[in-house]
Amino acid sequence: MNSKSDAMKELDEAILGCHLCKLAEGRTNAVPGSGLVQNVEVVFVGEGPGRNEDREGKPFVGAGGKLLDELLRNAGLDRDQVYITNIVKCRPPNNRKPEDDEVETCTSTYLERQLAILKPLLVCTLGATALEYFTGKNKMGESHGKLTKTKNGIPLLPTYHPAAIFRNQSYRELLQEDLKTIPEVLTNLKKASRQKQTTLTSY
Ligand code: URA
Repeated sequence: MNSKSDAMKELDEAILGCHLCKLAEGRTNAVPGSGLVQNVEVVFVGEGPGRNEDREGKPFVGAGGKLLDELLRNAGLDRDQVYITNIVKCRPPNNRKPEDDEVETCTSTYLERQLAILKPLLVCTLGATALEYFTGKNKMGESHGKLTKTKNGIPLLPTYHPAAIFRNQSYRELLQEDLKTIPEVLTNLKKASRQKQTTLTSY
């Protein structure tokens, strides 16, 4: 086991066969995540698979996913340059919010390990469930678009869930603006990391 791809494949297999919580009972397919594994700079984290994702075994493939693809492209990002996953990997019944025990089990067993393998420069949360998991806050209006950190110190940019736009069109512009800041956020994070390296090696 020496590459990120091997480690991610092994984790994907574990997710596909997982029965650690009650969400396994109602799923068609577990949805580990998809996208770039080697040198990925940004990982997007949504809430959990919906009906289409459960059917196809891939994240964000329904209407919300199509919208996300469009907004990512407008921001100069492509789905295959990023990694996309969710807080829980199995569809909650009737798309209800995942319960605390489901979030705890799935994130501690899978999401945190995915992040440890991928080592992204930036995590971008989509929606309140992912924001709350990483920061303990749930007020999207106050948090979106402001760079902060995950509990483990990974730079974090919270933004709206694409599905929120179907309920309220005014969120579209906010989500788009937040996504458009990502290339510059990444440039700044890389610059800061190079400066840190230089300071460390000059001692
Ligand atoms: N909503 C999510 O949060 N994740 C998906 O993968 C699809 C819809």
